[in-house]
Amino acid sequence: MLIFATETSCDETSICLMDDGKIIEHVVFSQEIHKKHGGVVPELASRSHLEIIQNIMVELLNKHRLRFPDIDIFAATCGPGLIGSLLVGSTFTKSLSLGFKKPFIPINHLEGHIHSTSFNNKIEYPHIVLLLTGGHTQLYLLRNDKKIELLGESVDDAVGEVFDKVAKLMGMPYPGGKEIEKNASFGDENFFKLPKPLINEDTLNLSFSGIKTHVNLLVKKSNINETFKTNLSASFQKTILDILITKTKKTLDVLRKKNLKIKQISVVGGVINNKYIRVNFEKFFKKHKIEILYPLNEMMSDNAAMIAWACLKNINKNKPDINFKVNPRLSIND
Ligand code: ZN
Repeated sequence: MLIFATETSCDETSICLMDDGKIIEHVVFSQEIHKKHGGVVPELASRSHLEIIQNIMVELLNKHRLRFPDIDIFAATCGPGLIGSLLVGSTFTKSLSLGFKKPFIPINHLEGHIHSTSFNNKIEYPHIVLLLTGGHTQLYLLRNDKKIELLGESVDDAVGEVFDKVAKLMGMPYPGGKEIEKNASFGDENFFKLPKPLINEDTLNLSFSGIKTHVNLLVKKSNINETFKTNLSASFQKTILDILITKTKKTLDVLRKKNLKIKQISVVGGVINNKYIRVNFEKFFKKHKIEILYPLNEMMSDNAAMIAWACLKNINKNKPDINFKVNPRLSIND
């Protein structure tokens, strides 16, 4: 079964051809235009998708000498994400499916991330997924591969977003995650005491926007030199790690009380490319005898391979629906 999948929920234009669960070709084009604006500009993102998506498709099909009639299923991300960007990818893919009279299957972007580790790992249930991206910070329980339950999520900024915003406040270029990581390796992680919102509350929800506000005040009253940047980056990274570890630990406690023994956790999304967070996560889970699973590198950030895989994985559950309307706020229960 040959699947043609597109992903355009934010600033990555991606197409994947997947044949019987094997990636034939996968292209991810990261839009550079947002760098000079210090963050993703939605209107520019949708225009950029529009400019490039057709070229990527033609190149991909030509390279593999495939023709449209060879494709069995067309799939596209239909939410959540930026409305304009979602519309470009989904409308493009829908028109191909209509033109070549093949089914169109709408895919939830979150399901793409959640199932991404099952492409290269054997999943044991019950299983938890920690989703850490620029758009989402969520904790899910998977009782089996069909039943996905949201346990907790950020009530304000996503973790990747707060990395970028804090970097911007310190005058670092976008995307800020890498800049913070680079600076943090030279700094003292105990130098600044930053707030950890919701950390002592019973809820499994998380909150990060208070940190950003605190950093803003610090920046305004300080002399921004290299020492300040390195110490603040290191302290910020440690604060984020503490929040994530505390909430994960709380999640494990809650599940244990429900007699759900967790042996594996999937950590997905671009934020886990941060080595400091990754190494400390690995230490923490090793101590708790929990195996940590990651997706393939190419399925880490936003990409169409995870969309093709989510389509194939739930092929019996996913119904073709050419009339499906994109939904920027699509949740896992929709
Ligand atoms: Zn994503």
